[in-house]
Amino acid sequence: MKHVTESKDLHRKAKVAVFTTGGTIVSNFNRAKGTITPVYSGKELLGFMPECDCIDLELHEFCNMPSPYLTPNDGLKLAKKVEDVLKDSTIDGAVVVQGTDTLEEIVYLFHLVLDVPKPVVFTGAMKSRNQLYFDGTGNLFGAIKLAACSDASERGVMAYFNQEIHSARYVVKTHTDNLSAFKSPECGPIGRVYNDRIIFYGKPEAERKYQIDQLDEKVVLIKAACGMDDLFIRASIDSGVSGMVIEGLGAGNLPPKTVKAVANAINRGIPVVMVSRCITGCPMGMYEYEGGGANLRDIGVIMGGSLNGQKARIKLMVLLTHNKNVEYIRQAFEE
Ligand code: ASP
Repeated sequence: MKHVTESKDLHRKAKVAVFTTGGTIVSNFNRAKGTITPVYSGKELLGFMPECDCIDLELHEFCNMPSPYLTPNDGLKLAKKVEDVLKDSTIDGAVVVQGTDTLEEIVYLFHLVLDVPKPVVFTGAMKSRNQLYFDGTGNLFGAIKLAACSDASERGVMAYFNQEIHSARYVVKTHTDNLSAFKSPECGPIGRVYNDRIIFYGKPEAERKYQIDQLDEKVVLIKAACGMDDLFIRASIDSGVSGMVIEGLGAGNLPPKTVKAVANAINRGIPVVMVSRCITGCPMGMYEYEGGGANLRDIGVIMGGSLNGQKARIKLMVLLTHNKNVEYIRQAFEE
């Protein structure tokens, strides 16, 4: 545990902007039906929070939607809003409250487009407000403290769940129901919260930021499977996609029946980015057989590094919006 930093200033009066978008954190559970319904506004959510005399809150109700309704362009609009609000010198940091299902994508989009030193922390809840294991209060309270903490600045956009601080670059939702659903399988959390103490294990590497106003959302994510053919790849080309991310097998390999369609996509100028369907590790371009990673790289497939499929799709949208040149996109993924 190198570079451990403990926060020192939790008791200074700070101000945090809280952006609410909806999710399970503003929902209730119906025991009779076993279903979950959104019922609370952002204002009501903050009204439930325990008093914290060392931090003032400024509420921004961005929307109230389940996160499967959010689009990458909604995320971009929200990122612009957060950036704008953080220009106010009296605001120390921001919290974004959203549904957990697409959080890993929106938080990564923020990571790519937001260029602010102040802490920005995403959180939400795995359980509804009236459930026994409701985690929304602890998650939101911790996220607010983190956003108010000056030691949390210059650490990139973060996600805070279950007392763990994760970098936007690596965080993944790994469980459908458990309170410890959010993990960084590639490298672990960048910090933890112990009661009133925030402990960081170091700073994640800064990544290049992209200035964009509108995302090209026509990027598909295709998961490879044993014996798969080219159906989804052909359908994607025919429907006029701008880019394609493939979650390949192992170190980035594909069944042979897909290769012709992949080459066809590349010949038409569609960037094809390979990541792995394995939980950790990168595509490596090693195997020379037809459909092997070396063969795919030779026909022009871009190696997407250790990003998972959903994050690589967001990055490809951002890059395509910024510069459509395939070599530029290759460099941005492979550098
Ligand atoms: N399905 C919900 C959503 O993503 C789950 C949650 O909020 O955690 O909005």
